[in-house]
Amino acid sequence: MSLWAVPAAVGFALAGLVVVLVLVLGARLRVGGKTTERSRGNKTVEMTCTVCQRALVFSPAEMVLLSPPESALVVRSHPKVVGRRLAEFICPYCDAAHCFCVQGKAMDWLGANLYEPQTKGSLCGECKRPLRRPPWSPGAYAGRFSKIPELLPDFGLLCPYCGAVCCVACCTDATRGRTPDGSMLCPRCFRGPLETVFDF
Ligand SMILES: [Zn+2]
Ligand SMILES: [Zn+2]
Ligand SMILES: [Zn+2]
Repeated sequence: MSLWAVPAAVGFALAGLVVVLVLVLGARLRVGGKTTERSRGNKTVEMTCTVCQRALVFSPAEMVLLSPPESALVVRSHPKVVGRRLAEFICPYCDAAHCFCVQGKAMDWLGANLYEPQTKGSLCGECKRPLRRPPWSPGAYAGRFSKIPELLPDFGLLCPYCGAVCCVACCTDATRGRTPDGSMLCPRCFRGPLETVFDF
């Protein structure tokens, strides 16, 4: 009996030691991972895609900042993020657009597919009539509003103040006689000037 008892005791002790080591190391690795993520923030983002449930690992360099119209649509459903930098990461498996609020090097996940469905059938935020897609490529007249050859009544204008996208006709109505230079006002919040055509 004693011949067996000694190796058995040693075996149990070793097994216990291994378990303790694994637990301690595991805990350390986890803590280490958390701290690097917090202190640097720009390392990698690890998350589960909320749409297809697959694991996503990506670096902030792979994220793309949202265009003003996309940001506007996000702000519409999350008014708290108005004025914040927004970026997206597209899930490579299911094409879900994950939207993040970027603050310094920290990123807060806001949601998935916040703007894609709305971009397709874009409607005026005021009269709800469908908006016309401008014939130029997106961003072609960014910052050059006065250079746009013809501002059709069903083009959309993006309000940088409240995030609404409203048709030129509604903006013209809201503006009538209210600005000395004829610059466009937002029909939702009556602020202006509106100088971004919604080129979705
Ligand atoms: Zn996915
Ligand atoms: Zn309208
Ligand atoms: Zn507005």
